[in-house]
Amino acid sequence: MRGKVSVIGAGTAGLVAGRELAGRGVHTVIYDQKTELGLPVRASGIISINGLKMSGIAYESAVTNTLRGARIHAGKRIMRISAKEPVAKVLDRKKLADICADEAEHAGAVIKKGVRINGTAIGKLHKDSIIVGADGAVSAVAKHFGMGPIGRYVLTYKAEFNVDVDEPGYVDLFFDKKAFPGLFAWMCPNAKDVLEVGVGIDSSKGNARKALDRFLALKEVTDAVGSAKMIDNGASMIPLQMRRRIVNPEKRVLLVGDAAGQVKGTTGGGIVYGSAAAIMAARAICDSITSGKSLAEYEKAFAKKYGKDLKLHTHINNFYSSLDGNSIGRLISVMNFLGMDSFISKYGDMDHPSLLIKRFFTRKPA
Ligand SMILES: Cc1cc2nc3c(=O)[nH]c(=O)nc-3n(C[C@H](O)[C@H](O)[C@H](O)COP(=O)(O)OP(=O)(O)OC[C@H]3O[C@@H](n4cnc5c(N)ncnc54)[C@H](O)[C@@H]3O)c2cc1C
Repeated sequence: MRGKVSVIGAGTAGLVAGRELAGRGVHTVIYDQKTELGLPVRASGIISINGLKMSGIAYESAVTNTLRGARIHAGKRIMRISAKEPVAKVLDRKKLADICADEAEHAGAVIKKGVRINGTAIGKLHKDSIIVGADGAVSAVAKHFGMGPIGRYVLTYKAEFNVDVDEPGYVDLFFDKKAFPGLFAWMCPNAKDVLEVGVGIDSSKGNARKALDRFLALKEVTDAVGSAKMIDNGASMIPLQMRRRIVNPEKRVLLVGDAAGQVKGTTGGGIVYGSAAAIMAARAICDSITSGKSLAEYEKAFAKKYGKDLKLHTHINNFYSSLDGNSIGRLISVMNFLGMDSFISKYGDMDHPSLLIKRFFTRKPA
C-alpha cells in the first residue's frame, strides 16, 4: 500500500496503531523520546478481559494477577462487587510495552527510540506523511495542530509493597471528596504478594504525594501493608476529558489514546479505549490511502461506538466527585439494601456502563 505515517509516541496506543498500519502494508515509523519503552512504570495495569481481546494484543505473558471484583469504600460503608467469572487481568506494564513493541515491529513498523519530536520536527515529518499523535496527555502534536486543550486532569501517585494479599481477586477503591477529590484512592493486588497503593486527585486540588500519605495513614491501608517497605513509587497524570478535536482531515493528523483524552472518567483506565481508537484510526488512514475516504471517518466511527459510554463515564465521575464521603456512604447503604451490589456483580461492565443501565431499565420486575 502506498502512503507513509509517522506515529509520535510508542505507548500502547501508538504501538497498536503502528501494528495495524504496518500490518496493512503502510510505511510506518514510530518515534519515542524514551530509550527504554514502558519505563519508568507510573501507571497500573488493570484491564478488562473483553477489552484485552478487542485490542488484539497477545497479552498473556504480561499477566500478573486476575481480578473478579472490587470493594467500594466510603467512610465505614462497603459495597462488594463480585462477578462469577474473572473480569479483568492485571498486567505488568513494562512487559505489555515490550509485547506491543514486538508486535508493531513484527508487522513491519520501524521504532525510533530516544527521539523527542518537537514542533519543528513535526512540521518536517508532516511534509510527506500522515501524523498520528500518540504522545500522551501533554501532546506536542495536539498543541502543534491547535486541536484544543484537555479540560480536566487528575494527578496520581502510587507505590508498591511486598505483602501477602488476603484476597488477591479484589481491588479496593476508596471515595472521599475531601481526601481524594476528583477520583479515588486504590489498593490493587498486582500479584498475590505485591500490593499497589495509589491516589488520583484533581490537578487543581493539591498535591498527590500528600494525598498518598493521607491514604497510607488510613486503618485499612496500614492493616494491609503492615511494616512492609515501599518498593516502587512515582507520580503521573491522567486526562479525564476528550479533546475538542481528535482528527484534522485537511492537515492529515489524528490523535489516539491519552493524547486524545480517550480515558474512562470513572477509573482513569485508558488502555481499552486507546487501543480501540488506534485500530479505528489505522483503518481510517488505510481507507483514506486506498479509496480517498476522509480521515474524519475515524472520529465518526469512534463517536458512534464509544462516544456514549465515554460521556457516561464522565457523568458518573462528575456525580461521585460532587458527593462528600458521607453521602457516598449513604448511597452505598441504599444501593446494598436494594440489591444493586448483586445486580452490578451480574451485569456490570468495566468499559461500557451503558450496558448496565440498559439492563437496569429493561429488567423484569421481581
Ligand atoms: C497511576 C495510573 C494508573 C493507571 N491505571 C490504569 C489501569 O489500571 N488500566 C488502564 O487501562 N489504564 C490505566 N491508566 C491509564 C493508562 O496508563 C493510559 O491511558 C495509557 O498508558 C495511555 O497510553 P498512550 O499510548 O495513549 O500514552 P502514553 O502511555 O502516555 O505514551 C505516550 C508515549 O509518547 C512518548 N512521547 C511523549 N511526547 C513525545 C514527544 N514529543 N516525542 C516523542 N515521544 C513522545 C512518551 O515517551 C510515551 O512513551 C493509568 C494511568 C495512571 C497514571
